[in-house]
Amino acid sequence: MAWFKKTRKPIASSTAEKPSRVPEGLWVKCPGCTQLIYKKELEENLNVCPKCAHHFRITAAERLKGLFDDGSYAEHFPNLVSTDPLQFTDTKPYRDRLHKSTAETGLKDAVVVATGKLESLDVVVAAMEYAFIGGSMGIVAGEKITRAIEMAHDRRQPAIVISCSGGARMMEGALSLMQMAKVSAALARLDRARLPFISVLTDPTTGGVTASFAMLGDLNIAEPKALIGFAGPRVIEQTIRQKLPDGFQRSEFLLEHGMLDLVVDRREMKPTIARALRFMGATPATDSDAVALAVTADA
Ligand SMILES: [Zn+2]
Repeated sequence: MAWFKKTRKPIASSTAEKPSRVPEGLWVKCPGCTQLIYKKELEENLNVCPKCAHHFRITAAERLKGLFDDGSYAEHFPNLVSTDPLQFTDTKPYRDRLHKSTAETGLKDAVVVATGKLESLDVVVAAMEYAFIGGSMGIVAGEKITRAIEMAHDRRQPAIVISCSGGARMMEGALSLMQMAKVSAALARLDRARLPFISVLTDPTTGGVTASFAMLGDLNIAEPKALIGFAGPRVIEQTIRQKLPDGFQRSEFLLEHGMLDLVVDRREMKPTIARALRFMGATPATDSDAVALAVTADA
């Protein structure tokens, strides 16, 4: 028998029922500086904190919008879907994961291929979507990136891949690992055709993506403080039995150690890419049929 009993109901809070006067999601707390930022202001600033320049993770569509002139581009191969060749099940069937991710993102896989103009230069861009099973690279993601590169090859336009990925997609086993070789082979062809490839690495770029195309750019450009690596720090510490230095696997550390060419603020990304492409010989097309890229073999 208890000594005390609650006979009366607890006093209901008068504010609990009232709807909040501040609409949900109008303000965002920055994980970098813990300041509150007005969401609209953040969006206008390409989702970079105006106070401390913390780069928020953004969707593939937001990236493409920020990169192309007037935010307009044409999407390609949107209907490629994984056939779940291994009929894989972990805690739940892979097929269900695919359906869930499609419902959440409106995409059929983790890559969006787009063409359009970037400061008047014709480019082919493949952007990875982290919200789709961690941006993992499976059969479809690999195929889409390959097709994007082949498209750049056939149109004689520069290729840009924006990586944001946890690596290869385990649910497709060895088939996902084969994408590394396939995309790399397509890039080798692009290289032989003397067309530029710019790799943009964003937070996070890890595993098989880092181990293949993300590091194969003629220019490898990263966003500030992005996590970029192959294996995670814990695995490395256990393997080499040493404490890892501060900032290990972050953009700035990798730049210092020669793994990257540039670390560029998202707000400067577009002009930086355009400048690099112009330096490499890209010229704006005079009409739609014109050869967009005036690169000659002995130039
Ligand atoms: Zn901040």
